Amino acid sequence: MNCTDFLAKLTDYFDGQIIDAELLAEVKEHLGTCHHCEVVVDTTRKTIDVYRGHQPYEFPEELSERLRAAVMTRCKASVSK
Ligand SMILES: [Zn+2]
Repeated sequence: MNCTDFLAKLTDYFDGQIIDAELLAEVKEHLGTCHHCEVVVDTTRKTIDVYRGHQPYEFPEELSERLRAAVMTRCKASVSK
């Protein structure tokens, strides 16, 4: 799994929608090896906690897009291809 794959699954991961054990293992493995995505998850989790405190939980699409763009920029800089 690379960063693109991971980010594609990110919202599902937070929504608890990943029920495939193999896929979940891949997601977690990527998190353990990719600092960029680890930071994204950490940041997203904190942001979601804030959202949850105010209104019924809904993953903010705008946030999702912003995180995706930020991570892809960083990952492209650190990965040769
Ligand atoms: Zn990554």
